[in-house]
Amino acid sequence: MEEKGKIDVEDFLNDLGEYVNPGRARVYRLMGMTNVEHKGFGSTVVDIEGKEFIDLCAGYAVINAGHRHPRILGAVQQQMEHMGLSTKTMLSAGEVELARALAEITPGDLKRSFFCATGAEAVEVALKVARMYTGRTNFVAADNGFHGKTLGALSATGGGSYRDAFEPLIPGFTHVPFDDIEAMEEAVDEQTAAVILEPIQGEAGVVIPHPDYLPRVREICDRAGALLILDEVQTGIGRTGENFACEHYGVTPDIMTLAKALSGGMIPVGAAVARSEVLEVFDANPWIHSSTTGGNALACAAATAALQVLQEEDLAGQAQRKGVRVLERLEEMARRYPEVIQEVSGKGLLAGVRFTKPAGGLMIMAELYSRGVLVIPSLMNWTVMRIAPPLNIEEERLERGLDIVEEAVEYIRPDIEDM
Ligand code: PMP
Repeated sequence: MEEKGKIDVEDFLNDLGEYVNPGRARVYRLMGMTNVEHKGFGSTVVDIEGKEFIDLCAGYAVINAGHRHPRILGAVQQQMEHMGLSTKTMLSAGEVELARALAEITPGDLKRSFFCATGAEAVEVALKVARMYTGRTNFVAADNGFHGKTLGALSATGGGSYRDAFEPLIPGFTHVPFDDIEAMEEAVDEQTAAVILEPIQGEAGVVIPHPDYLPRVREICDRAGALLILDEVQTGIGRTGENFACEHYGVTPDIMTLAKALSGGMIPVGAAVARSEVLEVFDANPWIHSSTTGGNALACAAATAALQVLQEEDLAGQAQRKGVRVLERLEEMARRYPEVIQEVSGKGLLAGVRFTKPAGGLMIMAELYSRGVLVIPSLMNWTVMRIAPPLNIEEERLERGLDIVEEAVEYIRPDIEDM
């Protein structure tokens, strides 16, 4: 094991509280989540003391190809050898290469890309483009949908606790229940610039719509002359068993937002990929929206390599196959421990476990952490724990992780029953 920097965790948490945010330090302490991450490879994370964790969360569905995938790492290292960030005054080859790769891999006539650095920024771009393209200012989004926390994206995000402190948000947003086609029909009209949805809701706790929901939303948008924005920041890049979740439903949006795993787990990058005609609104003034570091050479090198890995290793196929097994095991656990698990859901390697008590999500997360397994809560529904490992996780390792999940469920059962 290589030499590790010495960190006193107590000092570290005090400094986190003093210089960053005491609330975060308190939560980490309370949850007993006080290991300092040091090294990642594949589906393994090692802390500074050498303790190993099985990664069943992939940094919130970012590390889809595993930590430091050699091909992606190589691409970044090679780019770093000659240039880091772009001059922004000269032509940058990486951006065009990535845009072309995205045009090839995304469904239908999605072709042009605007690059930024995060998911929320990609959503901002989509909202601005939709307003310009349609000349309309209204949007329809879904309850519990998550699109990020910048002011525009937050206006689309459909949940209370992140929004309350910032009201009034951008006017013109209506939220309707997800997977309710009548509600959508009623909300969309000739004033609607766009409907923005996640094809499968991630932060809401892995909510999968009926198969005909998105096709019908597409029809409603077409009838009203509204655009359809599908936010694939979480579901894209193979996560749900197709390269993009909209492919499960045979629906092509007018604008697709991507981020998270597009970076190959290396250098953050976001993108709004649109039909050429839609992104034409930025033609007259190409700097009407811009991002200094968005789509920089390093990020593009990482993302282009990540798309190659996605295809060559059939990450979507791996997610699909392993996801069937994950769901099978979780359903078995739900049958065995009905007093603990209320229901499970999943598509590919994005699975949700809803607990019978609200505290269950955090209890299991802390318990799993102490047993060396990383999972995540759902930001819009903390009762649901999510399992979202790297898509190329070894089957044995996944089984071992799920064994530990089962042991932890069994362990917290008496506490859950007493609540
Ligand atoms: N959209 C979706 C569907 C997401 O899941 C997220 C992040 N969880 C975002 C947007 C925001 O992405 P970021 O945190 O990179 O801004």
